[in-house]
Amino acid sequence: MSAYRMGRAAGYISIVSPDHAPIERDTLQCVHCGGHWSLEPGSGKQRGFCMICNGPHCGRPGCWNCVPLEKRLEELERRAAFAAAAGLQ
Ligand SMILES: [Zn+2]
Ligand SMILES: [Zn+2]
Repeated sequence: MSAYRMGRAAGYISIVSPDHAPIERDTLQCVHCGGHWSLEPGSGKQRGFCMICNGPHCGRPGCWNCVPLEKRLEELERRAAFAAAAGLQ
């Protein structure tokens, strides 16, 4: 799936693009699952921040770990190593 790409895109949007300022519109996107949510002050909902992705995550159980990104990198590395070993580069 495209969770890795979506996470990267969210980080770039919130930091680089002034057109889309999701934080200023009180909307954030999870860097791990890509889900959106609105900030609700006092709602008591627990959100998190991933230091690896440098962005917010939605706080769902599966999003507290940076598993999607690590898995994605492992996969890419393995694929690159395989391609090199097979002489496909
Ligand atoms: Zn999430
Ligand atoms: Zn992460």
